[in-house]
Amino acid sequence: MGGCHPNDNNYQGRELRLQQQYFFVSCSLQDIIRNYLQHNDNFDNFPNKVAIQINDTHPTIGIAELMRLLLDEHQLGWEKAWDITQRTFGFTNHTLLSEALERWPLSLFGRLLPRHLEIIFEINQRFLDQVRAKYPGDNEKVARLSLIEEGAEKRVRMAHLGCVGSHAINGVAALHTQLLKNDLFRDFYELFPEKFSNKTNGVTPRRWILIANPKQALLITNKIGKGWIKNLEELKQLEAFVDDGEFREQWRQIKQENKQDLAEYILQTTGVHVDANSLFDIQVKRLHEYKRQLLNLLHVITLYNYIKQNPNADVVPRTVIFAGKAAPGYAMAKLIIQLINSVADVVNNDPDIGARLKVVFLANYNVALAQRIYPGADLSEQISTAGKEASGTSNMKFAMNGTLMIGTLDGANIEIRDRVGQENFFLFGLTTEQVSQIKAQGYHPWDYYNSNPQLKQAIDQIASGYFSKGDSNLFQPLVESLKNRDDYLLFADYQSYIECQQRVSHAYRDQDNWLKMSILNAARTGYFSSDRTIREYAQDIWHVQPVPITLEDDQQENAAINIEAQPAYSH
Ligand SMILES: *Cc1c(COP(=O)(O)O)cnc(C)c1O
Repeated sequence: MGGCHPNDNNYQGRELRLQQQYFFVSCSLQDIIRNYLQHNDNFDNFPNKVAIQINDTHPTIGIAELMRLLLDEHQLGWEKAWDITQRTFGFTNHTLLSEALERWPLSLFGRLLPRHLEIIFEINQRFLDQVRAKYPGDNEKVARLSLIEEGAEKRVRMAHLGCVGSHAINGVAALHTQLLKNDLFRDFYELFPEKFSNKTNGVTPRRWILIANPKQALLITNKIGKGWIKNLEELKQLEAFVDDGEFREQWRQIKQENKQDLAEYILQTTGVHVDANSLFDIQVKRLHEYKRQLLNLLHVITLYNYIKQNPNADVVPRTVIFAGKAAPGYAMAKLIIQLINSVADVVNNDPDIGARLKVVFLANYNVALAQRIYPGADLSEQISTAGKEASGTSNMKFAMNGTLMIGTLDGANIEIRDRVGQENFFLFGLTTEQVSQIKAQGYHPWDYYNSNPQLKQAIDQIASGYFSKGDSNLFQPLVESLKNRDDYLLFADYQSYIECQQRVSHAYRDQDNWLKMSILNAARTGYFSSDRTIREYAQDIWHVQPVPITLEDDQQENAAINIEAQPAYSH
């Protein structure tokens, strides 16, 4: 259960949203039960035959809905219904951002779903009785764990319902799961540590290599056979060819052709000419302040100023490519898009800059566009504030397509770096612990602004209207937010990021070594296949075994793109 959300990592508390969630969840559960009862005449075997994985907090209402169906529609007793419910559900958390966790006001919830509120109160009473028995007199712990948040406006904490109503709770990268245990769900982890596990995300190599990058796919198959399509760890065999000059040349040629295709798309959609020989430096993802597209843009402005001040500078030419959607009501995200486009306008049309720097924002980011972008990337920007990105998956898709990463120690970046090797990764920035420390001791973005002339110049240009035809009001909200709060520590990480980008440019001059790093990034990312992720859920949470399936002849025809049978799973 789960799906797509117009608001990524942001909770709005709109009534229609709860109605939609309930509608889809109830339909799914009633369909599951209908199907189950065609083969069973009681519910004893339900948790053995059905596994429901709650994908983020949005479908957690399913826990109360399954209880309602079992109690009211199928006349089970509470104890039996609760045992079945807990053994059926697993809960995957996808974010540590507290503003993204759904907390429905009791008034709204009770008006829409009065029976479910009753059931949640009953679940809570029984749960808190256990908590009180274990921690006598610790009322603060009871308040922290409760499914109901007290206060002027009482709320239902949907993430807590997910933790209490499931037998398994997981995060989506090693660091993220660690932070769930230590921070967000600390009290729950103390109560039932056995429920917690990590399931690092993965992506499907069929879409993200085979379909998106057919030339690279064919080269790989010619070298190591087609086993990698079903067992991505086989990409490791490519390591044997990293010192093979002919293979490197083939690898280079394919990246170059992919960059030319992307350059063609950029020309057609934006009218901007970009040089396919420049370093394609790419950040494509939902617009969010924690993902720090602005930090990337501060580097762009810094590079622009450097070239302006050093007209004959021999810099590595770069094409900086952005894409990503902003949620409809997220004004700051939209302003960031406007600033990217404004900076692009100035940079791309400055004759002093020429082909040394180009900036483009590609509209309407979606999976189809993503498939065009990753294969043509030299450098992938994964620069979130440490501790904020649960996992990320574009980091994986880029690496599989032979893209080097500039990144922080956040989400799955850490595990990618561990596998591709630190010498094949551009690391910068504060660690999660350092971020917490700085925040605890009182963070003053002004100090960084005042003590770093390049940073100050970039910010002052944005503020003065340098990129907005003299309009010094347009980007004020953005500038004020950075100078006064800078919640995501852009200023604190700025210098480290700029210096790391200099290391990137330096490394790109050695094309032969860059190619080796590119091959090793692709060769060592087999772990990040979604096949591995699904296998772990199947083994550890759903307790289901793989079942080999044979394809009909007409399905074999589908082999136009060589997509092969994956095992189905069943009890
Ligand atoms: C992979 C992907 C994402 C996720 O990107 P992150 O950088 O991991 O946040 C978002 N949108 C599309 C279209 C994608 O293909």
